[in-house]
Amino acid sequence: MAGRCKICFHPKRLEIENEIMMGFRERIRGERRLFSYRKIALRYGVSKSAIGHHYREHMLRPQAKEIRAALGLDNPETIEWARQWRESLGRIFKSNGG
Ligand SMILES: [Zn+2]
Repeated sequence: MAGRCKICFHPKRLEIENEIMMGFRERIRGERRLFSYRKIALRYGVSKSAIGHHYREHMLRPQAKEIRAALGLDNPETIEWARQWRESLGRIFKSNGG
Protein backbone atom coordinates (compact mmCIF):
# COMPACT_ATOMS: atom_id res chain seq x y z
CA MET A 1 0.00 0.00 0.00
CA ALA A 2 2.99 2.29 -0.34
CA GLY A 3 2.10 5.62 -1.84
CA ARG A 4 -1.57 5.42 -0.99
CA CYS A 5 -2.68 8.84 0.18
CA LYS A 6 -4.01 8.70 3.74
CA ILE A 7 -6.21 11.72 3.14
CA CYS A 8 -7.76 10.57 -0.14
CA PHE A 9 -8.84 7.36 1.54
CA HIS A 10 -9.80 8.96 4.84
CA PRO A 11 -13.52 8.62 5.69
CA LYS A 12 -13.55 12.31 6.58
CA ARG A 13 -11.68 13.48 3.51
CA LEU A 14 -14.15 16.29 2.76
CA GLU A 15 -13.96 17.66 6.28
CA ILE A 16 -10.17 17.59 6.15
CA GLU A 17 -10.12 19.38 2.81
CA ASN A 18 -12.59 21.93 4.11
CA GLU A 19 -10.38 22.59 7.13
CA ILE A 20 -7.32 22.94 4.90
CA MET A 21 -9.13 25.61 2.90
CA MET A 22 -10.29 27.34 6.07
CA GLY A 23 -6.69 27.31 7.21
CA PHE A 24 -5.68 29.34 4.18
CA ARG A 25 -8.57 31.70 4.71
CA GLU A 26 -7.66 32.40 8.33
CA ARG A 27 -3.99 32.79 7.40
CA ILE A 28 -4.89 35.33 4.71
CA ARG A 29 -7.07 37.20 7.20
CA GLY A 30 -4.45 37.02 9.94
CA GLU A 31 -6.84 35.21 12.25
CA ARG A 32 -5.92 32.88 15.08
CA ARG A 33 -4.87 29.54 13.58
CA LEU A 34 -7.38 26.81 14.31
CA PHE A 35 -6.74 25.06 11.01
CA SER A 36 -2.98 24.80 10.77
CA TYR A 37 -1.75 21.55 9.22
CA ARG A 38 -0.57 20.53 12.67
CA LYS A 39 -3.96 21.01 14.31
CA ILE A 40 -5.85 19.35 11.46
CA ALA A 41 -3.44 16.42 11.62
CA LEU A 42 -4.05 16.03 15.36
CA ARG A 43 -7.83 16.16 14.96
CA TYR A 44 -7.97 13.49 12.28
CA GLY A 45 -5.13 11.26 13.42
CA VAL A 46 -3.02 11.73 10.31
CA SER A 47 0.45 13.17 9.83
CA LYS A 48 1.11 16.80 9.03
CA SER A 49 3.14 15.74 6.00
CA ALA A 50 0.21 13.65 4.69
CA ILE A 51 -1.94 16.77 4.74
CA GLY A 52 0.69 18.84 2.94
CA HIS A 53 1.16 16.11 0.37
CA HIS A 54 -2.56 15.73 -0.23
CA TYR A 55 -3.04 19.48 -0.57
CA ARG A 56 -0.19 19.92 -3.05
CA GLU A 57 -0.75 16.80 -5.12
CA HIS A 58 -4.49 16.18 -4.93
CA MET A 59 -6.13 19.53 -4.26
CA LEU A 60 -3.89 22.26 -5.63
CA ARG A 61 -2.63 20.53 -8.71
CA PRO A 62 -5.79 18.99 -10.15
CA GLN A 63 -8.93 21.08 -10.24
CA ALA A 64 -8.83 23.37 -7.24
CA LYS A 65 -11.85 25.29 -8.48
CA GLU A 66 -13.89 22.14 -8.97
CA ILE A 67 -12.95 20.97 -5.48
CA ARG A 68 -14.02 24.30 -4.02
CA ALA A 69 -17.31 24.05 -5.86
CA ALA A 70 -17.81 20.40 -4.84
CA LEU A 71 -17.17 21.31 -1.23
CA GLY A 72 -19.50 24.27 -1.53
CA LEU A 73 -16.83 26.51 -0.02
CA ASP A 74 -18.25 29.60 -1.67
CA ASN A 75 -21.87 29.00 -0.62
CA PRO A 76 -23.20 31.41 2.02
CA GLU A 77 -24.49 28.41 3.97
CA THR A 78 -21.05 26.85 4.11
CA ILE A 79 -19.43 30.11 5.09
CA GLU A 80 -21.91 30.48 7.95
CA TRP A 81 -21.38 26.86 8.96
CA ALA A 82 -17.62 27.38 8.90
CA ARG A 83 -17.98 30.48 11.06
CA GLN A 84 -19.98 28.57 13.65
CA TRP A 85 -17.51 25.70 13.53
CA ARG A 86 -14.64 28.11 14.11
CA GLU A 87 -16.43 29.50 17.13
CA SER A 88 -17.14 26.13 18.69
CA LEU A 89 -13.58 24.96 18.04
CA GLY A 90 -12.33 28.20 19.56
CA ARG A 91 -14.33 27.46 22.69
CA ILE A 92 -12.93 23.93 22.87
CA PHE A 93 -9.34 25.14 22.54
CA LYS A 94 -9.96 27.87 25.09
CA SER A 95 -11.40 25.41 27.61
CA ASN A 96 -8.36 23.17 27.06
CA GLY A 97 -6.11 26.08 27.83
CA GLY A 98 -5.09 26.78 24.27
ZN1 LIG B 1 -4.69 12.68 -1.48
